[in-house]
Amino acid sequence: MTLRTRILVLGAGFGGLYAALFLDKTFVSDPYVEVTLVSRENYALFTPMLHEVAAGELEMSDIVNPIRKMLRHAVFIESEVHSIDLLNRRVIISHGVLARRQELVFDHLVLALGSETNFFNLPGLAERAITMKSGTDPFLLRNRVIALLESASLEESESVRRAMLTFVVAGGGFAGVETVGALNDFVREAVKSYPKLNPDWIRLLLVHPGTVVLPELGENLGLYAQEKLRERRVEIQTGTRVLGFSGNRVELSSGEAVKTATLIWTAGVTPASVLSNLPCKKEKGRLVVDKNLEVPDFPGVWAVGDCAWILNRKTGKPHPPTAQHAIRQATQVGKNIVAAIRGAQKKPFLFSTLGQLATIGRRTGVANILGINFSGFIAWFLWRSIYLLKLPRFEKKLRVALGWTLDLFFPPDIVQYVTVRDIESLHEHLAHLRKNALQPEPEEILTIKPLTAIPGPDHSPV
Ligand SMILES: Cc1cc2nc3c(=O)[nH]c(=O)nc-3n(C[C@H](O)[C@H](O)[C@H](O)COP(=O)(O)OP(=O)(O)OC[C@H]3O[C@@H](n4cnc5c(N)ncnc54)[C@H](O)[C@@H]3O)c2cc1C
Repeated sequence: MTLRTRILVLGAGFGGLYAALFLDKTFVSDPYVEVTLVSRENYALFTPMLHEVAAGELEMSDIVNPIRKMLRHAVFIESEVHSIDLLNRRVIISHGVLARRQELVFDHLVLALGSETNFFNLPGLAERAITMKSGTDPFLLRNRVIALLESASLEESESVRRAMLTFVVAGGGFAGVETVGALNDFVREAVKSYPKLNPDWIRLLLVHPGTVVLPELGENLGLYAQEKLRERRVEIQTGTRVLGFSGNRVELSSGEAVKTATLIWTAGVTPASVLSNLPCKKEKGRLVVDKNLEVPDFPGVWAVGDCAWILNRKTGKPHPPTAQHAIRQATQVGKNIVAAIRGAQKKPFLFSTLGQLATIGRRTGVANILGINFSGFIAWFLWRSIYLLKLPRFEKKLRVALGWTLDLFFPPDIVQYVTVRDIESLHEHLAHLRKNALQPEPEEILTIKPLTAIPGPDHSPV
């Protein structure tokens, strides 16, 4: 009897999805190889366009792809990965409202579980900050902003109105800069529909621990981005850290306590928590792999993407956690698994960053492509063209192109889609905010613990 080779891929982000697609295509007519992809959501999220959803330029459904429509013969399981047993080559998944557990065995395992937000134990952040990582985050943010505009327009106290119209974004990496640029455009456009609100009450503040934002793009482009954002009335505080968030005040290392109901945290990530107990070598929590992307001492176990620590053999530094790298690693891991199954030679992962691009608000961007710097409209146009091409599936490309075309002629939609969870937490926030904003200064409401970890930059995308 010939046994089937079982390939199990965990995580359907850029790394896991592209590895599964490659393996699915390669073994489509091979009855002796079984490919299974497990992930928490049944869709693949195109993270580079998340901020466009927050800004109301695109809908969330435009930037997600149903995994089942992308795979041909591979099996997809929507489930939480509960634990991984590398020694006995088993994975326990748990799914459904009853959290039913199931065991999956593997011959080859691709670990592509990515990263999750790291709040560095800063007080109040995990409970109250909005993140910019999952598909629902920009939806939550956009609704929160609209709800605040509605509430502020009914508010009598100017100090409370100002606090409601203050938005703090933490982290001057790609996610933070793109989010603050998009949010600024959205709020300043949307406020035109609220005659009782004075646009001068709007405050958008970007807080960044480094000296210049977008450090991955170099000082010139970082300074350009800062100048453009400031021209558009975004306040930028460099050399500053967030210390805590009470729900109505963001405490900064500069000593300022910013009255606000909204903190968007993009200033730190950590590898998926389910990987933390694995008995293999790690660097900053990421799984160290050899040049062929295989985990040393565990043949047939591979890791790619944000959760993997892969040294660039040219620079001696780890490959950055970006989609650009995760996609290339995924294809290479697929090829090496095929080589391992067929007894052929495995090949090392060799790739150099092609370029990095970021938008900083309406029709403006910054980019470094193959060592050449671009800024302004041309960089923004390059960003849109390149990411439209990279977005999987023709249907979604068409939806996004249509969304962008409509956006040229019409202002963003300000319909509020209320979720029960958000409205409850928002009312709680606003009650505190109102109470606090009406009280005379100073009122110490936070106990700030000493920093135990230094927040690092967020994703460095391409
Ligand atoms: C706002 C934002 C903008 C970005 N912009 C860019 C950009 O412009 N260009 C670029 O190159 N990169 C960009 N990035 C970075 C890019 O998204 C990541 O580098 C890339 O997603 C990494 O892919 P991955 O497969 O390693 O991990 P992920 O994409 O994070 O995928 C991991 C998957 O595993 C799943 N998962 C995790 N834990 C479990 C579990 N226990 N059980 C089940 N499933 C689990 C997750 O739900 C997810 O589907 C951006 C990131 C963000 C957050």
